[in-house]
Amino acid sequence: MQVVKSLKALQARMIKLRNQNKIAFVPTMGFLHEGHLSLVRLAKKKADIVVVSIFVNPKQFNQKSDLKNYPKNLKNDLSLLKKEGVDVVFTPTAESLYPENFQTQITVEKISKNLCGQSRPGHFEGVAVIVLKLFHLVQPHIAIFGQKDYQQSLIIQQLVKDLNLPIQILIAPIVREKSGLAMSSRNVRLSEVERQQALVLFSSLKIAKSLSRKKSVTLFEIRKALQKQLKKQKSIRIDYLEFRHKKTLEKIKVYQKGKTLIAIAAYVGKVRLIDNVII
Ligand code: AMP
Repeated sequence: MQVVKSLKALQARMIKLRNQNKIAFVPTMGFLHEGHLSLVRLAKKKADIVVVSIFVNPKQFNQKSDLKNYPKNLKNDLSLLKKEGVDVVFTPTAESLYPENFQTQITVEKISKNLCGQSRPGHFEGVAVIVLKLFHLVQPHIAIFGQKDYQQSLIIQQLVKDLNLPIQILIAPIVREKSGLAMSSRNVRLSEVERQQALVLFSSLKIAKSLSRKKSVTLFEIRKALQKQLKKQKSIRIDYLEFRHKKTLEKIKVYQKGKTLIAIAAYVGKVRLIDNVII
């Protein structure tokens, strides 16, 4: 496994590798868990060469404290990636990716505006610019993202389509802890009590999912059951709970089987968690 920090060295390496190999790319912010590793495993299946980037992108953090508290453990990350048989790990610095006088902004208009885009102004612009930069540096044939960040995955797909990037985007399912909690690097910041409190996110989504399997159920009924479950845990603060069309992210009024995204964001203590399900 090669660990590359310099942008130029990465580009030189990738040009050589790309000639004869199919390249899959998994961008991450590190502090890796099984969710990240599931993307790496999918990448291994789909390509000859797997490249993982580890970069905590300052541009996508709308709160300084969140950036400062974002967990890091490069040594452990590298050891996990080595075990998975990753070929190249790219660990650039913020200074090299965003030199002084960096000016370019990328906005994927409509689908960046609602949900997390509303609660975290500038977040998806930060995501779009770093992903586009990483795509140019790595030049993968395939890039893999997680459904955990559902809105992000739609935005990347739109970006690739709009800009005619020759990259196939794959979306991998959410990996959960046994308890049902969606794995996230931020979970490490939860206390034991908060970890228990956070379980209500998935348990309420699960109630909605099973209700949706019933014949002739309405959106109103699903929402009511979900909210009833959420209300059992008074200590978490809901940022949003939305029912949206899974492709356009437009609000839906009538339940459309298989096309409805339920997306939740909530603060558990100081930690903001997101989760989603398609019903
Ligand atoms: P992050 O390091 O949080 O930026 O995540 C890097 C990639 O891993 C993104 O494409 C995420 O959607 C994905 N990811 C994060 N958590 C999970 C999870 N629990 N299951 C599947 N993919 C995940």
